[in-house]
Amino acid sequence: MINKFFEIKSSTIIKTNIIIPNYQLIMHNVIKELKEIKAKNIFLQIPEGLKTRAEELINTLEENGFDVICSMDPCFGACDIKPDTAKLNNCDAIVHLGHNKFLENNTIPIIYLPLTFELNHIDKLIKNLINYLKKEKINEIGFVTTIQYLEHIPKIKDELKKENIKLVTKKGEKVEEGQILGCNYSSAPNTKNIVYFGEGLFHPLGIHFSTQKEIIIFNPTENLISHLDKEKDKFLRERILLIEQAKDASEFAILISSKLGQNRIKIARQIKKDLEANGKKAKIYSMDFISQTFLLGINASAFINTACPRISIDDFKEYKKPIINFYEVEYLLGKSYDDYKIKMFY
Ligand code: SF4
Repeated sequence: MINKFFEIKSSTIIKTNIIIPNYQLIMHNVIKELKEIKAKNIFLQIPEGLKTRAEELINTLEENGFDVICSMDPCFGACDIKPDTAKLNNCDAIVHLGHNKFLENNTIPIIYLPLTFELNHIDKLIKNLINYLKKEKINEIGFVTTIQYLEHIPKIKDELKKENIKLVTKKGEKVEEGQILGCNYSSAPNTKNIVYFGEGLFHPLGIHFSTQKEIIIFNPTENLISHLDKEKDKFLRERILLIEQAKDASEFAILISSKLGQNRIKIARQIKKDLEANGKKAKIYSMDFISQTFLLGINASAFINTACPRISIDDFKEYKKPIINFYEVEYLLGKSYDDYKIKMFY
């Protein structure tokens, strides 16, 4: 059920905030900023998890006097800003929900509104973390999380400090302090143990293989704490198997994305040269949304992905041919797997 908040402002009723269980979108500042820049026609981008609420989000903006065109293309991150489509539709600003700023030098005003995940049980979570760290005799941790949980860091830090446990955060490149992305682990602090506060294994594996640190996974949804352990071996075995399968290919398809924050044409060209110098054939293919469906006509025996790393890590089983990330080409060309690393910052 959605609750709607209203705010009275200059005799106008402005609907500003939308609360969806566990998520909070504070629309107030977005509306204020849009009015400040005198935007009228809005190109709205919504993350996949909120597409079912598109109509409510459009209503909220329309009720505040804006005309809205809502993009229904898949949008998994702020790497996927579409200024050309916005301008094609005569829009004068983009409202991008779910993520924070990623790209510099945009040709159209972009207003970002990250999602905040509410944690009503934060006290319980902190207590569980303190008990775990005391049991493991850990008195210093690095701490990273995704944008949705960032605002909880100060409280967690304060409560740990009361128990003489130091929580260390770092501001990485082009992210907030403590924030990580699947293509950017540069906020990982240089501590022996790093706590990843969030769900899933993709990020903790990325932090481990880009920093070589011990990772403690703290899943706030389930209030579960675990050590990243056997998953590391499984992940490494999967990557090596894929790279070895790709080694047999004589012809490669290098995939580039036309999404602004995922395009790596320079890297793609360099990889083509490197492969050709090693007696392989390679062609470069450009797509907006990379998916097996659109690659059916390609005869190459392996794919090199230069776009979002999740495509080759989370989704590799959906591809009929081995798909590896661009930084894995050096292993394909002979580098030892002993120091297998994921790129820290794309
Ligand atoms: S490239 Fe992938 S991991 Fe990086 S921000 Fe975009 S969707 Fe997220």
